[in-house]
Amino acid sequence: MEKLSNPQKTIEVIKKYQFNFQKKFGQNFLIDERVIDKIIAAAEITKEDCVLEIGPGIGTLTQMLAEHAKQVIAVEIDKNLIPVLEDTLGNYDNILIINQDILKVDINELVEKYNGGKPIKVVANLPYYITTPIIMGLFESHVPLESVTVMVQKEVAQRMQEGPNCKEYGALSLAVQYYAKPYLVANVPPNCFMPRPNVGSAVIRLTRWEQCPVQVEDEKFMFALIRAAFNQRRKTLVNAVNNAKELEITKEQMTAALNELGYSPTLRGEALSLQEFATLSNTLVKGK
Ligand code: SAM
Repeated sequence: MEKLSNPQKTIEVIKKYQFNFQKKFGQNFLIDERVIDKIIAAAEITKEDCVLEIGPGIGTLTQMLAEHAKQVIAVEIDKNLIPVLEDTLGNYDNILIINQDILKVDINELVEKYNGGKPIKVVANLPYYITTPIIMGLFESHVPLESVTVMVQKEVAQRMQEGPNCKEYGALSLAVQYYAKPYLVANVPPNCFMPRPNVGSAVIRLTRWEQCPVQVEDEKFMFALIRAAFNQRRKTLVNAVNNAKELEITKEQMTAALNELGYSPTLRGEALSLQEFATLSNTLVKGK
């Protein structure tokens, strides 16, 4: 089978179907075989694996996934790409193409139906405009997952790996690190895509923890606390929680909790690690 990652082949397919790239769908197709090889290697795809691909485009990454995996489920929103995919991937009998918005798909149901509820691997060159809802949706809806290996905007990859007191550290860093261990696979320049995006990109692998690294009494409360802390990141925690209605924590309760844990009353959320947020959250829940 001729590889779709060859830029000439991509141009041929685009011309044949008179395909117009849709900016609103974040369509930047991969045209570099070495990048695709890196993604497949980092995801450690084997013939035992069921892989979910989000946004197959014309099928460039899908094709290589199908070569390595047992089954590929590819969810594509753009109906104009469906006849293209049926053509480019017609020779593979282990690819299921679903024409839907990934944010509206019941992924748990797909995993149950096509992989008997066993953990899947997610691999994608993501549409950047919905990176966070896709990743958080996968984790928060407790989809059985082994790992998520994805191309994202370079700054987002950085944010996912960052720790306390760094500029990019925030709610996304903490949420990702609560569910998974991040590993930066490679930085990818714009010339590896057609059309070229106007931002840098990176491949990141998020390996789901078998056991969560911190003990949290009330997960929902901890994430509300984290959101409140970073919504107003220049404010002290005492002031930030005071403005967050959903927490129902007074300034006095926060001051008492900080005091109990030996923290300064002027502490900011950006100074706390995941473990420290978990401890603070547990202390606040206990004192409610
Ligand atoms: N995988 C292809 C590649 O690497 O060449 C295409 C990647 S492109 C960055 C993102 C793909 O996601 C596009 O095909 C786009 O149409 C699709 N897409 C965008 N929003 C989507 C959504 N909500 N659900 C499913 N697919 C989506």
